[in-house]
Amino acid sequence: MPQRRRIVTQRARVRVNQYERDLDRGPANYVPLSPLSFLARAASVYPDKPAVIHGERSFTYAEFDARCRRLASALRRRRVGRGDTVAVMAPNVPALLEAHYGVPMAGAVLNALNYRLDARSIAFMLEHGGAKVLITDREFSDTIDRALGMVKRKLTIIDIDDALHEGGTLLGEKDYEAFLAEGDPEHAWRGPADEWQAICLLYTSGTTGNPKGVVYDHRGAYLNALGNALAFGLTSRAVYLWTLPMFHCNGWTYTWAVTAAGGTHVCLRRVDPALIFPAIRRHGVTHMCGAPIVMTTLIHAPDAARVKLDHVVEIATGGAAPPSAVIAAMEAMGFRVTHLYGLTETYGPATLCAWQQAWDGLDRGTRVEKMARQGVRYPTLEDLIVADPRTMKPVPRNGTALGELMLRGNTVMKGYLKNPRATREAFRRGWLHTGDLAVWHPDNYMEIKDRSKDIIISGGENISSLEVEEVLYRHPAVMEAAVVARPDLKWGEVPCAFVTLKPGAPPTTAEDLIRWCRDNLAHYKAPGHVVFGPLPKTSTGKIQKFVLRERAKEA
Ligand code: ADP
Repeated sequence: MPQRRRIVTQRARVRVNQYERDLDRGPANYVPLSPLSFLARAASVYPDKPAVIHGERSFTYAEFDARCRRLASALRRRRVGRGDTVAVMAPNVPALLEAHYGVPMAGAVLNALNYRLDARSIAFMLEHGGAKVLITDREFSDTIDRALGMVKRKLTIIDIDDALHEGGTLLGEKDYEAFLAEGDPEHAWRGPADEWQAICLLYTSGTTGNPKGVVYDHRGAYLNALGNALAFGLTSRAVYLWTLPMFHCNGWTYTWAVTAAGGTHVCLRRVDPALIFPAIRRHGVTHMCGAPIVMTTLIHAPDAARVKLDHVVEIATGGAAPPSAVIAAMEAMGFRVTHLYGLTETYGPATLCAWQQAWDGLDRGTRVEKMARQGVRYPTLEDLIVADPRTMKPVPRNGTALGELMLRGNTVMKGYLKNPRATREAFRRGWLHTGDLAVWHPDNYMEIKDRSKDIIISGGENISSLEVEEVLYRHPAVMEAAVVARPDLKWGEVPCAFVTLKPGAPPTTAEDLIRWCRDNLAHYKAPGHVVFGPLPKTSTGKIQKFVLRERAKEA
């Protein structure tokens, strides 16, 4: 509060200068930023170009625009508008993409639900987010049916009855296409009166209690989408394959970025190499995104599913640290990897490992090691520091001092819905506290070493679980690895590794892997235990370290 008073007094004292007098903000020179304007433009510039492809169906930009207007109009006719929530439970199908435009065109807020969640979590989200309408794909009718049994509020249910999926039941009053038919394809919409108006609601995974509802605004969505287009080199020639779930930070805002560039969206219901490789070939895919697990799936796809790429495909990865061995294997297959880092709280990607020309001539090993760093801020993120969270003093840029990564700018969420305490906590001292521990290198690139809760402290020394995993991934027999702390009487904690071996890998023992780590790491960082088997994953494909920590106690 005292800070605000000071600003007001200062303003009162300042005389209006010549650049402020008679140079006012008005409709001609000031329009609230909204990603909805990308669609309006694309529809007028590329009306006949394929905007959305789904199986054998394809919509031009003129059709895509008309379908979104219909959706907005149908929602308005049901009295859905400003401050209302429309939830969608769907894989990457046209209806979910259209909801990214049609719902905010109606003035409402889109809540894309994570379809891998259980009924109880979905019920919590529908209740907490106050959804008025739920658009839901047949594939998830079981979960939704059970969730609706737990929800007290009344919702309008619309079914997505996609020909590309068999099974499931229809739960709602009508099918999505029939709902669109209720709407006017020429529905005249106005963008938000204020760019700070909410556009989307997304729930965090809630591994420690109830999920938090992250709220995005039109301005942040607009900026992050443009940041994406710039960071990932999207142009109107881009053909973007939807290997990243749209429910994950609105597809890291690529839902709007691809449209901003006038590219083509290729929908995909499932991350399956048997679908991905043929789609790349058939549609000439140029760009795609996915967590490192998506890359691992492609690298280890059975031979029958593989197609040799006849052009370079750009893949942006993030959401978890991509081991350099995985980057190298993707490059060998003909992909070019861009490394992004971000959180739900930052509209997805907030930093990237920006390419430097000086790296062009480096050998692959050195290059992928550089690329495995999380890098520098997005062009649309205002600032980033790696600092001691108690003193807020930035750590030295020496590649070894550990601090918390903090971000600020216009692509940081509005806050958590109905949770001012969590919002204050996340934004304390003017920065978004990411909870990620990083080092800052002399070239200003930062590198995540761990989530603060995942760091292993052994005999008073920090051990980055990512660093140990990085070494394990370089072992020729290892497909996936995760390292967590195991309580230890002598050292406090020791690293315990969980490993999945490659299919057909030569016999490899725990001792082999421990030796490999000791040969490639300081000895105290080598795991004391190695457990083989499949790794538990979260609904967004991340390895569930909290589950492994429990297992490690028994290892
Ligand atoms: P959740 O908390 O459910 O995992 P988010 O999708 O918001 O939800 O995850 C954000 C977190 O993912 C970050 O705080 C960070 O720990 C991790 N992360 C994201 N991108 C990267 C990356 N490129 N490298 C390492 N960790 C990453």
